[in-house]
Amino acid sequence: MREGIHPQYKEANVSCVCGNAFSTRSTKNEIRVEVCSKCHPFYTGQRQQNRNAGGRIERFLKKYDMDKKE
Ligand SMILES: [Zn+2]
Repeated sequence: MREGIHPQYKEANVSCVCGNAFSTRSTKNEIRVEVCSKCHPFYTGQRQQNRNAGGRIERFLKKYDMDKKE
């Protein structure tokens, strides 16, 4: 029998840069994401078009913080 063909899905801890954490099924034990369903512009209604690689997280957090003050 060949092994490694079917990935082993298990409970994975996902942590987002916004501080939100949740669990999902994945082949990895731990996943770090830059955006999640709690802070993703698509879900929050924010418009974020700055998707440059450099300083993306910083820019995102800045925007998120600004919106929280409203
Ligand atoms: Zn998040």
